[in-house]
Amino acid sequence: MNDIKSMNLEELQAVCEALGEKPFRAKQLYEWIHQKMVSSYDEMTNLSAKFRKRLEEEYPFHPLEVVEVQTSRLDGTRKYLFELQDGNVIESVLMRYHHGNSVCISSQVGCRMGCRFCASTIGGLVRPLTAGEMLEQVYRISAHTGERVSHVVVMGTGEPLDNYDSLVRFVHMISDPRGMNISQRNLTVSTCGIVPNMRRLAREHLQITLALSLHAPNDEKRRALMPIAHRYTMDEVLDACRYYFQETGRRLTFEYALVGGENDSQGDADQLAERIRGMNCHVNLIPVNPIRERNYVRSGKKVVENFKNKLEKYGINVTIRREMGADIDGACGQLRKSYIDKTEKRMPE
Ligand code: SAH
Repeated sequence: MNDIKSMNLEELQAVCEALGEKPFRAKQLYEWIHQKMVSSYDEMTNLSAKFRKRLEEEYPFHPLEVVEVQTSRLDGTRKYLFELQDGNVIESVLMRYHHGNSVCISSQVGCRMGCRFCASTIGGLVRPLTAGEMLEQVYRISAHTGERVSHVVVMGTGEPLDNYDSLVRFVHMISDPRGMNISQRNLTVSTCGIVPNMRRLAREHLQITLALSLHAPNDEKRRALMPIAHRYTMDEVLDACRYYFQETGRRLTFEYALVGGENDSQGDADQLAERIRGMNCHVNLIPVNPIRERNYVRSGKKVVENFKNKLEKYGINVTIRREMGADIDGACGQLRKSYIDKTEKRMPE
């Protein structure tokens, strides 16, 4: 592996040793990358020119390049389109809340989970991201804005539990006091529900919040929206959630995208409540963002309110997700998608 930005301190020590440098250089290198968030070896002024040259040769430093930034005039939300070393593009979002800045990162280039309402999955999976590429989304946004990032959500393009090892490495590194030092309690990982990996994650005993994309009150409706539901039943997924709580003590979040006429009736709310009652959880209702490629429609305001009220009657914690950056390129992979569509059109036949 020559991916310098994914390496932890011990691995950097091995690199230093291999290049004939003193072990304390590893700490300096780590600080430049993960604390000062530089984008080239040239900026690492306390390392010798010779050492930097060797590093450049053997461990090329490829920063993510900003291709496009869109800033919302409504709430200051910023969407970033980044180009990776191999020419692929990914998107990340900075959201400004009263409790601090939150960055939503991608975990893969594309996605193979196939959720029917999601734009990120339309071109399938291109490749997983390295831990370094996940970290860099946060670093580049923090450096670009000059603002501290206090929260990170892994809710952008990709299925994080389909990129397990890099995800766990990312979590350890972003929460490392020698780096960005973002508390694990301020990290959220969202999954469509890959049961074995949810259980494995529980056993890592991290303090991160696990968000499950539930989106339906029963197996039949869930299967119509999410192919993964053919692999794992709702019982299995909810059991894995209970296990996650038992192992980590962390309250679960259930994401529920309200799709007009599909999963938003009062009966749906009753069934959902029946399934999750008594669990230590919180439901986040998200009026679905319609995408061009599918004809799903967003539930009306009143329907969303009624759904929320119904769940609350059962004593369930519910919030309606506040929409951020509504005036800039949609949500969930639509910036990347529209960029790819544009560039493909420009390519000669
Ligand atoms: N693969 C992970 C994380 C990425 S998606 C997951 O499935 O959870 C992040 C969240 O956005 C998920 O809850 C996903 O279902 C939701 N989402 C995707 N497309 C959406 C859309 N068009 N409208 C509303 N929510 C959407």
